[in-house]
Amino acid sequence: MSGAAGRVGLVLVSHSRQLAEATRALARQMTGEAVAIACAAGAGDGGADLGTDATAIAAAIERVCGPAGAVVLMDIGGAILSAETALELIDPAIAARTRLTGGPIVEGAVAAAVRAAAGGTLDQVAAEARQALAPKAEQLGEAERPASAAVAATDAGAAAAVAATSAGAPAATVELAIADPGGLHARPAARLITRAVAFDAAITLENVTAARGPVPASSLIALASLGARRGDVLRLRATGRQAVEAVEALAALLQRDAPAAAPAAPPASCHAIPVAPGVALGPMVRLVRSIPEVPETTVDDPAAEAERLRRALDLAAQDLGSALRGTDILDAHQALLCDPALVDEAISRIERERCNAAWAFRQAIDAAAAIYRQLDDPYLRAREADVHDVGDAVVRALLGGAAAVLPDGPPAVVVTEDLTPSEAARLDAGRVLGVIDRRGGPTSHAAILLRSAGIPAVAGAAALVPDAGGARAGLDGATGEVWLDPDPETTIELQRRQAALRASRRPPGARDGRLRLACGREVELWANVAGPSDARAAREAGALGIGLLRTEMLFLDRVDEPGEDEQAELLAEIFAAFAGAPIVVRTLDAGGDKALPYLELDAETNPSLGVRGVRLSLARPALLEAQLRAILVAGRGHDIRVLVPMVSIAAEVSAVRAALERAHEALAAMGAAHRWPVATGIMVEVPSAALMAERLARQADFFSIGTNDLTQHTLAAERGHPRLHALADPAHPAVLRLVRGVVEAGHAAKRPVSVCGEAAGDPGVAPLLVGLGITRLSMCASAFDAVEDALAGASFADLSAIAEAALAVDDAAAARAARAAARRPG
Ligand code: PEP
Ligand code: MG
Repeated sequence: MSGAAGRVGLVLVSHSRQLAEATRALARQMTGEAVAIACAAGAGDGGADLGTDATAIAAAIERVCGPAGAVVLMDIGGAILSAETALELIDPAIAARTRLTGGPIVEGAVAAAVRAAAGGTLDQVAAEARQALAPKAEQLGEAERPASAAVAATDAGAAAAVAATSAGAPAATVELAIADPGGLHARPAARLITRAVAFDAAITLENVTAARGPVPASSLIALASLGARRGDVLRLRATGRQAVEAVEALAALLQRDAPAAAPAAPPASCHAIPVAPGVALGPMVRLVRSIPEVPETTVDDPAAEAERLRRALDLAAQDLGSALRGTDILDAHQALLCDPALVDEAISRIERERCNAAWAFRQAIDAAAAIYRQLDDPYLRAREADVHDVGDAVVRALLGGAAAVLPDGPPAVVVTEDLTPSEAARLDAGRVLGVIDRRGGPTSHAAILLRSAGIPAVAGAAALVPDAGGARAGLDGATGEVWLDPDPETTIELQRRQAALRASRRPPGARDGRLRLACGREVELWANVAGPSDARAAREAGALGIGLLRTEMLFLDRVDEPGEDEQAELLAEIFAAFAGAPIVVRTLDAGGDKALPYLELDAETNPSLGVRGVRLSLARPALLEAQLRAILVAGRGHDIRVLVPMVSIAAEVSAVRAALERAHEALAAMGAAHRWPVATGIMVEVPSAALMAERLARQADFFSIGTNDLTQHTLAAERGHPRLHALADPAHPAVLRLVRGVVEAGHAAKRPVSVCGEAAGDPGVAPLLVGLGITRLSMCASAFDAVEDALAGASFADLSAIAEAALAVDDAAAARAARAAARRPG
C-alpha cells in the first residue's frame, strides 16, 4: 500500500457490499494496488444486509485519506445521507481533505482510480469521477455537449500545462494506428495514463481519423472521448524536457498492448470506398509529412509579425500555385489564402494576443476546419482537407519544412491519412502505383485529382492497419478492394485484372461518345463536369456532351457572391471546351447542407430535406435570375440546356420557366446577345418527381436522374454516411423501380431520359440502368473505360434480363449480388 500513500484515496459507499467490492475489483484491473480503495457498503453483520452505515463510512475515509485526500463515491439515496453524516464524525482536518462526488459509482470509481494513480490532485480526481458518464452519453448520442468539451473544461490545468511548456520546449510527435480490436479501451488507456505520469512532459492524444481531441493523456474520460476504434490513427504529442522519451515509451506501450489484447491478426484485406478506377499492386510506402510543431510563443512587435504572415501567405500561394497549376482546385485554395475568416482572424489574434503568426494562423485554420467537419453534406465536409492543406502550406512558409514526400525507392502503393489536394497534385504518377487513403472519401479534391491523374485509389480504408505488417499492397480502385500482402492467388487475380484493363484502354481520340451494344443499340457517354479543366479533360476523353455541369462547384469557397459577368466568363470557358456539343447546365444546387459561404443560409435541423436546390433558387429570385442571365449570355452560340435540381413538384418547374422568360426579356431589353430559346429539363432525384414523372413530362423537356439523391431519399439513408454505405445502394430494387418508371414516362412523352448520378459511372450498376432502357449515361470521364468494358459484348436483351433479375430481389444484399452478375454480361 506504500505507493498508494501519496495519492488520493477512494471510498466506495454502496447499499450492497457485493456491488462495492466488484467495483473495487474493476478499478484495480486498471491500476493494481496503486490507489487505496476502501469499501463501506452494506449494513448489519459483515455488511450482509442492504444498507449503509455512517460509522463504517467514517472509518473507511480515515483509512484511505492521506495528505492527498480522499474522494467518496456513493450509490443511491440513503448512501449520500450516510456519507454526509460520516463527514461530521471524522477529524475536521480529514473532512476538509475529503470530497463527496455525485459521479456514478462504477464508471466514476474506475475513472477516478486511474486519475489518482496518475498523480491527479484531489479536485482533478473528483472532477474525473463527476464526468465519468460523459463518454458513454456521447457514444449513445445522449450527450448535451461533447465529452471532450466537458473534459477540456475540467482539465484546464492539464491543458495549461501543455501550453506553458510548449513555448520553446522540446516537442515530439508520433502517429500510430490502433491494432487492438477493442480500440483504445479502458485497460490500455489506464496503462497509458499511469505510464505517462512518469515523464516530465505534457502529453496529449488526438484521434486523427475521427478528428477528435487533442486531449491530455491524464484522464480516462478524456481518452474515452477520443472514440478511438481499431484502425484509427492516434497522434501522440509531448512537449517538455522528456518529450522524446515519453513519446517513444508510450508508442511502444500502445503497440505492445495491441497483440496482448488482440490475438487475432488485423484484417489483411477490406472493402474501402472506390475513388479512382484502376488496379495497383506493389511495395507499400507511407507518405511522410513533416509539418513543423507550432510553438505558442509571443512576439514583441505584432505589426511586424502580421507582415511576416502576409509574406508567408504570398509564399504559400506560390507553393500551392506550382503544385496545383492547371487544376480546378487552385482557385479554391487561392480563395482560402485571402479569405477574411482566416487572414483577418489570424491578424487580429496577433494584434490582440501578441502570439506568433504560425500559431495565430493555425488557430484560425482549426476553427474553419471544425465548421466544415460539422457540415452534413459529404462533399462540403470533404473540404476540411483543403483548409488543412492551406494551413500546412502557410505554416511551412513561416517555420520551414518541406511538403510531404515519398521515400526514395521503386514505384509503390502509397498509404496516406487524409491526402490533401496539394499532396495529391504532387504525386508523380510514374512513382505512384496507387493510393490507399485511410480516411478521405470519393468527393474530396484529392480524389478528384487522383481520378484525373489516372492513379488507382481507394479511400476510407481505416480497417487496414498497415503498420501492423504488410510490405506489399494491392487495390482495385473500381471495386474498393484492398489487400495487405496479397496471397499468390490474389496476386494472380490482380495481375489478370491489370492485363484486362491494359487491353481495354482506349487511346485518346478513339471514342466518339457513342457505344454500340452487341445488338446495335447505342448508348451515349456524356460527362459530369465541375470546372473548366474538368471540361477540357472530358472533351479529350471523347464525351459526347456535358450531361451535368454542377454550377455550385464553381463558387464553393467564395465568401462574396460572384457577379453576373464573372459567372458568364467562367461558364463561357467551360462551354468553349464543348463547342458544337450539347451542354446541360444545372442551376445552383445549393442550400441547407451545401451551404455556399456567400449565401448566408439559416441553420436547418434536416438540411437535406430543407430549403435547397430549386427551393432555394425560388426563394432568392434575384440570385436565380442573375444566374440564368449569365447562362444565357455565356450560352450564345452553344447548344446549352438548363437543368433544374431537386424538383419535387410541377409548380417549381413552371416557376423556373417563368424566371427564364424574365431573364430572356431583360437581356433582350438591354440588347445583350444571348442564347434563346433553351430546353429546360429536370433532375429526377426526389421520389415524388420519379413517381409523378408522367405529369412532370408536360413541363420538362428532358429528365436527368440523379441517383445519388434519389437513393438517399428512397432508402432514407444519408449519402456518404460511413455506416450506411451498404444500404444506400443505387442498385436497390426500390431505386431501380423508380428509374424504370421514369424511363417509361419519358418514352411515352418522347422526353430524353439520362442518368447523371454516380451510378451511371459505376460498372456494376450502369448495365442495370441500360437494361432498364437508359441510353444516355453521364459520368466522370475517367469512368468511361470501365463502363464501356462492363457493357462490352452485351446485347440489350442480356442487360434487360439482368435488370429484371435485379428488380425481382428483396434487399440491398441481393441487389449487390445482382450487381456482381451484371459485371459479367453475356
Ligand atoms: C444526384 O443526386 O445524383 C446528382 C447528380 O446530384 P448531386 O450529386 O450534385 O447532388
Ligand atoms: Mg443531387
